[in-house]
Amino acid sequence: MTKVLIEYDYSGIDRVVGIPTTGQLITFQKQMAKVQTSYKCNIAEARDHGWSWIMCTQAQWILKRGITAQVPVPVDPGPYVGDTNILNAAHKQVLKLYEEYEEHKRNTNKAIQACFDEDLFIELETDGLLLGVSPHEVYQHMWTNFILTVDKDREILHARELLKVDYDPDRIVQHYYKAINEARELLTGLRETVTDAEVMRNAYATFEKNIDLKDACREWNRGTLTTWEEMRKHFSKEIQMNKTDPAIMKRTELANAVLAQTKEDENAQRQASEVLVLQTQKIQELEARIEQQQLANSATNQVPGRIPASISTGSSNGSSAGGSSATSTVTKEEMMQMFAQFTQNNNQSEGNTGTAKKKKNKFGTEYIRNDLGNGERSKRRYPDSTNYCPSCGYDIKPTHTPGTCTNRKACHNEAATLANKMGGVTTNCHFVT
Ligand SMILES: [Zn+2]
Repeated sequence: MTKVLIEYDYSGIDRVVGIPTTGQLITFQKQMAKVQTSYKCNIAEARDHGWSWIMCTQAQWILKRGITAQVPVPVDPGPYVGDTNILNAAHKQVLKLYEEYEEHKRNTNKAIQACFDEDLFIELETDGLLLGVSPHEVYQHMWTNFILTVDKDREILHARELLKVDYDPDRIVQHYYKAINEARELLTGLRETVTDAEVMRNAYATFEKNIDLKDACREWNRGTLTTWEEMRKHFSKEIQMNKTDPAIMKRTELANAVLAQTKEDENAQRQASEVLVLQTQKIQELEARIEQQQLANSATNQVPGRIPASISTGSSNGSSAGGSSATSTVTKEEMMQMFAQFTQNNNQSEGNTGTAKKKKNKFGTEYIRNDLGNGERSKRRYPDSTNYCPSCGYDIKPTHTPGTCTNRKACHNEAATLANKMGGVTTNCHFVT
C-alpha cells in the first residue's frame, strides 16, 4: 500500500520576523486556512472548508459559513484484521483519511516553522521537528507566550467597534451581515466570546434608525423569533419587500427630491455670497486707488485730475454738505469715473509689469500690453485715435489731449502737436504713418 504524501505551497504566506503581533498571528491563520481549504477533506462535517478545521478553535469553526457541527478527528485504525472485501475497503478508507490528517498536520507545522523564527518553538521541538504536537497547539503556544496583553486588547477594542457597524440602506443587507460576521470571526480569533444576543442587540439598534424598517422592527418585537439566523431572514425579507412597496418608493423619491432641492438652494446661496465678496473687494480696491491718487496728487501738487480729500461711499452726498470746506463727498458714479481715468493713466505709463499683468487679467483679452518696453507696444490700443500727448505719446484715447492729460511730465507743453512735439516724448510714435 502507498502512503499519502502532501506538500503545501507556502508562497501565499507571509514570513514573520521576531516576536509576532496579534495581527500577524491572525493573518497567518487566515493565510494558512486558504491553503488548507484548497485540499478536499472527506469528512462530512468539514463541508466546503477542506482541512482548515485543524487550525481552528471550536468557537472559530462553528462560525464558518454552513458549519453546524465539529469535525470528528480521524484516528489510526491499526492493522487490518478483517476477513471480507467490504471490511478491507472500509479499513483502507479510514487509514487513508488518517494518513491525510497526519500529512496536513505535518505540513502545517512545517509552514509554521518556515514562517516564524525557530526560537519561538525551542520548548516544543525535538531534533528541530515539532513531533507529536498539533498545529493548533503550536499556534496556541505562540498565542499564550508571545502576545502582549496590551496589543491584544487594542485589537479586541478595534474588533468590537467593527461589530457595531451601521446598516447602509443603499447596499444590500447581506453586506451588513458579512461585515458583522467578519468582526465576529476576528473577535473569536482573539479568543473573545461574541454571543448571538450581543450581535442581535447591535443589529436591532442600527435597523431601528432606518425609518423604512419601522414596521419590521415592530413586528420583530411582537414576534416569537429569537435567533440571529431568524433575525437575518426576517429583516432580509422586509428589506426586499420595501424595495417593491410603492408607498415607500414614493417616499424615497420625495426625500431624494427634497435633498436635491436643498443642495440647489445651497449652491445658489453660496454663489450669491461669492458675488457679494467680489463686489466688496472691488469697492475696497477702488477706494484704495482713490486714496493713492490723492496722495500722489498732493505730493506733486498737480491740479488736473484733482479729487476731493475725503471720500464717502454712502449713496447720499448731501449729508456732509454742512461740514468743513476741506472735505466733500464723492458719489459711486464719480468713483467709477475716476477709476476709469486711473486705469487709462496706468495703461499709458507702463513702469510696472506686475500691474500690467494684473490689468490684463482684469480686462480680459482685449487689453494690449506694452510688449516693447518703456511704454511702447507692437499693437495699437486705439487704432482710431490720432491724438498726441507730449507726456504720453501716440496711440492714446481720442479724448486724451495735451490739455486734458492727467499724467504730465516736465516735458509737457500744452501747445505740442504730433508734427511739433516741442520736446515731448515719442512713445508709440512708430504707429504714425
Ligand atoms: Zn498725456
